[in-house]
Amino acid sequence: MKNPYENAVEQLKNTAKKIDLDDKIVEILKKPQRIIQVNFPVKMDSGEIKVFTGYRVQHNNARGPYKGGIRYHPNVTLDEVKALSMLMTWKCAVVNIPFGGAKGGIVVDPRKMSRNELEKLSRAYIRSISDFIGPDTDILAPDVNTNSEMMAWMFDEYSKIKGMQIPAVVTGKPIEVFGSKIRTIATSLGGKFVLETVVDWLKLKKPLKVAIQGAGNVGGGLLKVLSKSQEYKVVAIGDSKGGIYSEDGIDEDVLKIKKETGSVVNYRGEKISNEELLKLDVDVLVPAALENQITKNNADSIKAKVVLELANGPTTFEADEILKEKKVTVVPDILANAGGVTVSYFEWVQNREGYYWNEKTVEEELKKIMISAASDVIKTSENKKITLREAAYVLALERVISALKKRLNIFSCRK
Ligand code: NAD
Repeated sequence: MKNPYENAVEQLKNTAKKIDLDDKIVEILKKPQRIIQVNFPVKMDSGEIKVFTGYRVQHNNARGPYKGGIRYHPNVTLDEVKALSMLMTWKCAVVNIPFGGAKGGIVVDPRKMSRNELEKLSRAYIRSISDFIGPDTDILAPDVNTNSEMMAWMFDEYSKIKGMQIPAVVTGKPIEVFGSKIRTIATSLGGKFVLETVVDWLKLKKPLKVAIQGAGNVGGGLLKVLSKSQEYKVVAIGDSKGGIYSEDGIDEDVLKIKKETGSVVNYRGEKISNEELLKLDVDVLVPAALENQITKNNADSIKAKVVLELANGPTTFEADEILKEKKVTVVPDILANAGGVTVSYFEWVQNREGYYWNEKTVEEELKKIMISAASDVIKTSENKKITLREAAYVLALERVISALKKRLNIFSCRK
């Protein structure tokens, strides 16, 4: 099996073929512009000194400063961070916000650390990479196992180093510390706007039955957003312990039960396995948990008409081919879950303006960007007779290349 970076390069090469792109440009885009590896000590609560390894990979900044989250996980590898940084370049280009792509990671198991240790770790990481980040250089954000509190520590540490308040170096901060309204629900809300555009395009009859895999920030957030609408009925939701199904629909109370008991399975409704959830007879299936959930082993049993990828990379390459054959419309991650980075962009704008928008303004601006991006992807897919995933990559790559060409005059590369 290919590693995540090899997969990302493969996707780039496949798209390059579709737009007849010169190999020289592929050579430029397949490698990150800068890879930073840092090793730094942290004094643990016990007094012991531990040395941690962290990465920041800056893939491409042709369209604007590098932008991307930072994850804390024991399995973080340089290849994973490289792949995710490239994905960020494409994601920012699809929604047409003026950022490039980056990603960061620290090899650490945060569950084994106290809050005090996590604060020291976050601050030490920022000290190690502070020469390479900044509001016009590279902007950080939360990702797996990092949250708004950690973003506040990072902003605070960076500001101390520079001797002034610089909130725009990090997004996803708490609302009390220069954060933006809507940021916590942005990915889910953005996903709903994209879904509506796709559903209208496909002329699907509403109300639509929805199954959601994952009940965290994104899956739980989507349930909240969809329960406010008569046009969607969430009939199934699952988490790492299993799922529940209810023909009458599942409301937001399930999230309270998950908080109190640790899982949605303790809510009323028929208990189902995660595998059964994926194969339900619904209109829309939303993977919102982990990568590689729809595989060649289950893709053929998927009955949904639309798969809305709110998770990053939930569909394997082979499964994608099967879904294409079955004429299932897959709304790709780089479009479907780009609401998060879009509101991050709004947070950065608000930090720089020093003027803070109300909820209505953030929601309206998000809606405009998501609908416009979804419409662009649909148009490209119709014009070139390709899938939405292929179209999203084509659009992203064309936008990045066109910026590269305007900035550097070394190209006359198109055949
Ligand atoms: P989270 O940790 O809040 O939630 C993950 C959910 O998935 C949990 O409910 C967990 O129980 C469930 N889960 C874990 N293993 C599972 C399994 N085997 N089967 C079914 N469910 C399982 O994470 P999140 O922030 O909601 O992120 C989910 C996905 O969305 C990730 O792929 C992430 O990269 C992607 N994403 C998140 C954001 C964001 O703003 N949070 C933005 C873009 C993409």
